[in-house]
Amino acid sequence: GVAPAFKAPLSEAACVYCGQCVVHCPTGALTERDDTGRAWELLGRPDTTVVVQIAPAVRVSVAEAFGAPVGTPITGQIVAALRRLGFSRVFDTDFGADLTVMEEAAELVHRLAAPREQAPLPLMTSCCPGWVKYVEHYFPERLGHLSSCRSPHEMVGALAKTYYAEKEGLDPSHVVMVSIMPCTAKKFEAQREELQGSVDLVLTTRELVRMLRLAGIDPTRLEPEAFDPLMGASTGAAVIFGRTGGVAEAALRTAYWMATGKDLPEEKLEWEELHRAGQIRRLRVELGSRVLRCAVVDGLKAARELLESPEYEQLDFVEVMACPGGCVGGGGQMRGQDLVARVERRAQSLAGLDRTSPLRRAHENPEIRAVYQEYLGSPGSARSHQLLHTHYVDRGVPLAR
Ligand code: SF4
Repeated sequence: GVAPAFKAPLSEAACVYCGQCVVHCPTGALTERDDTGRAWELLGRPDTTVVVQIAPAVRVSVAEAFGAPVGTPITGQIVAALRRLGFSRVFDTDFGADLTVMEEAAELVHRLAAPREQAPLPLMTSCCPGWVKYVEHYFPERLGHLSSCRSPHEMVGALAKTYYAEKEGLDPSHVVMVSIMPCTAKKFEAQREELQGSVDLVLTTRELVRMLRLAGIDPTRLEPEAFDPLMGASTGAAVIFGRTGGVAEAALRTAYWMATGKDLPEEKLEWEELHRAGQIRRLRVELGSRVLRCAVVDGLKAARELLESPEYEQLDFVEVMACPGGCVGGGGQMRGQDLVARVERRAQSLAGLDRTSPLRRAHENPEIRAVYQEYLGSPGSARSHQLLHTHYVDRGVPLAR
């Protein structure tokens, strides 16, 4: 499991990082939390608007539980299935991913222009709660490098109870947000005090599948349905959040546009050679007269190596995902034989969804443009900071480092 990354014994404290220890525990001594009972209870409340959202990686993992080939994307069928379970609104975490791109790209462009003492580089991504909590415990001196952006589902949760509730005339105290995530660490993230209860409940992909089976719903047999409007539109940039490298690539597409006013040509994104069995990849992009040096890191062991290496100081932007392959390999995803091949097929499926998407840059998303025009102002505005950003805590080292 994750123990070698920490050079410490496996313990309950380690489990919140990425959940992989739960997946891999050979004795079954570590068990996962089942929140489906709470979900049924919420769905049964007559006076509550129960809103649900699904993460990018979930849409390419559910079908395999119902006998379809691994990686089959069934986004619209999952939307239909969620409505049959009783959810009253179905939003897309991809909308939140596009919003994260807008805020994070603005943060990167700002830091590149600001004096280093005020805005340290590299900027490190913050959408993976396993990674964030690892930095809080083991590298608190680097907390200022983490992007202050909340993760995409937390942004959707915050806007559902403010922007959406206002637009629809809903009482925010009667709106409940449920996130379907590939991730067990998001269960911990949703409980962080700083995030003010934006998300009320996190269910994993496996928990969703359990609920669907109990209700006798096979989503692969349903006609696809569209997400609810206002927070249901997304671009190809958002869907690749579900695989390693996707967050960095999506942010660079929009940072380039913010800095130059032009679209980033694909040939300007140069992936360099794989390092250490594919766990650290480098990415360079020309931004005007400057070449941005980025690293994409797969797994916390490799992240630690990068943080402790002299190369770290030379970087401008770092993406870290705690799970192998990113969220497609998350601790809450469907299990099974040939996990590496499964994760690869899910990642390829997300890449295909990006390639075939009519819009591939977050700033092109019409609903993102609308939320800035009508509610948030601009990326990095005071309201954006209030609703879409957070801060981090030095949690002290729980185990020997
Ligand atoms: Fe969760 Fe994705 Fe991070 Fe894994 S990589 S801990 S699934 S956010």
